[in-house]
Amino acid sequence: MTSALEAAVGSLDLASDVRTRLTRYLALLLEHNASVNLTGARDAAAVLEHVRDSLTIAPHIREPLIDVGSGGGFPGIPLAIVLGIPVTLVEATNKKAQFLEMVARELDLHITVVADRAETAAHDPELRERFGSATARGIASAPAVMELTLPFLAIGGVAVLQRGQVDYAELTAAQDAALALGGGLLDEHGQGNRRVLIVAKRRTTPAAFPRRAGVPERRPLGWPRGTLNGNGASPAPIDA
Ligand code: SAH
Repeated sequence: MTSALEAAVGSLDLASDVRTRLTRYLALLLEHNASVNLTGARDAAAVLEHVRDSLTIAPHIREPLIDVGSGGGFPGIPLAIVLGIPVTLVEATNKKAQFLEMVARELDLHITVVADRAETAAHDPELRERFGSATARGIASAPAVMELTLPFLAIGGVAVLQRGQVDYAELTAAQDAALALGGGLLDEHGQGNRRVLIVAKRRTTPAAFPRRAGVPERRPLGWPRGTLNGNGASPAPIDA
């Protein structure tokens, strides 16, 4: 597997020591994926796609970075390896957080792991309003992700949020949520099902945010009542 990983990572235009670290990270990820469910990706080609996807946002990242809901480490770990900047990873599931700590140790990265929910961690004065950028990939609806990332940003910092397809209702809710949380106007990049929402922190986030664990996703800011579907995780279709 290591040689398949080396070949895959070798296709990226990166310095050789960076490639060595990325290969080591991906080997650990695939090895531990058998016992802890870290990623749906099961082979070299599939994990490489996640690395590529993680690195597309590198030009927007400012240090220090906080990655919320890191899971197996995307996008936080590839960004830490390639940019060489301090990164804090917030991950609520203990086993995943332990994996992330092990990777940070093995690769000697400038990574801090916070094994907690973002709703709690964002009220810790050592983490609140301290970061230059925040990422969160695949963790919740766009307005919920605003609430889980913006409180961590220092004024002038940016949330860089990778999304799949974003429909108009979700985008409008995300914009309203951003404004309520001290964010500015939302900027949208990308096409099709690869979107990046970028919002700058303009003002201090009101102390009430983020709300209690689970509430940002159950009752997303900016989302009109009664438009959520049964599991509360995504909006009902507009024509429902
Ligand atoms: N960002 C990774 C993982 C996505 S899966 C990737 O793109 O591959 C979502 C992860 O977010 C899970 O590991 C889950 O435990 C974590 N998570 C979800 N909500 C969270 C919250 N409120 N606080 C911290 N972690 C959270």
